Amino acid sequence: MSIRITCEHCGTRPLEEYVYGEVLDVPATIADPAERNLDRAFNHTNPEGPVPEAWFHLYGCRRWITIVRDTATDRIVD
Ligand SMILES: [Zn+2]
Repeated sequence: MSIRITCEHCGTRPLEEYVYGEVLDVPATIADPAERNLDRAFNHTNPEGPVPEAWFHLYGCRRWITIVRDTATDRIVD
């Protein structure tokens, strides 16, 4: 069974139409732009449980949507 994501503009569509875009918080204590980019690229928290995520509907309306996905089960909670 494939994962389907509901876009508020297009309805429920297959995962393959989307691109995942995690927006990460970089600690304010990191001031150097290069170090901020490194932290953003490699220091993911990878929490287990419900996590809000941003997905870009690339092959649909080309808008960002926010969903809550349980990273332990891969089920979309909200
Ligand atoms: Zn859409």
